[in-house]
Amino acid sequence: MSNIIAIVGRPNVGKSTLFNRLTKSKSAIVEEMSGVTRDRIYGVSEWNGRAFSVIDTGGYVRGSDDIFESEIRKQVEIAIEEANAIIFVSDVTVGITDLDESVAAILRKAKKPVFVVANKVDNATRANDAFEFFNYGLGDVYNLSSINGSGTGELLDDLVKVF
Ligand code: GDP
Ligand code: MG
Repeated sequence: MSNIIAIVGRPNVGKSTLFNRLTKSKSAIVEEMSGVTRDRIYGVSEWNGRAFSVIDTGGYVRGSDDIFESEIRKQVEIAIEEANAIIFVSDVTVGITDLDESVAAILRKAKKPVFVVANKVDNATRANDAFEFFNYGLGDVYNLSSINGSGTGELLDDLVKVF
């Protein structure tokens, strides 16, 4: 049995913050699986009685301004192979960048369920801005604040249905 969710997106959208929130609450085991993927972090989570693994991608670019689009694309392609479903995170305070759009283009071709997350929706004003992410053409947009946790319940309710 393998229920695996991968969190993808360009740097600084809040992937790791969301990962920590999804895995922390249920005494998560967060570990780097050395040998396989030093640049990805694996954790476990549970929702409505369903256990699943979560992969946080892009850890290796943390703190670096020198990010190559090709590296992000590679991470996304590996994530699509490894996971049963993808969480695609964007930053509502920035909107859609070229990097976001190139990730979206890969995901539109993927034969895996994609959950579009508008992150940093910390207040109601930002919820209006989040409509922009419907333009990805990847379906519904889940408004989240990974910092305060709002919206994660709705996301998880739908996420565990794919398992
Ligand atoms: P990653 O590079 O995609 O993994 O992004 P991080 O999780 O490292 O977060 C990048 C920055 O965004 C950090 O300063 C976080 O504290 C901030 N951040 C993440 N989620 C939220 C959120 O929901 N609201 C706000 N205001 N900031 C957030
Ligand atoms: Mg990160």
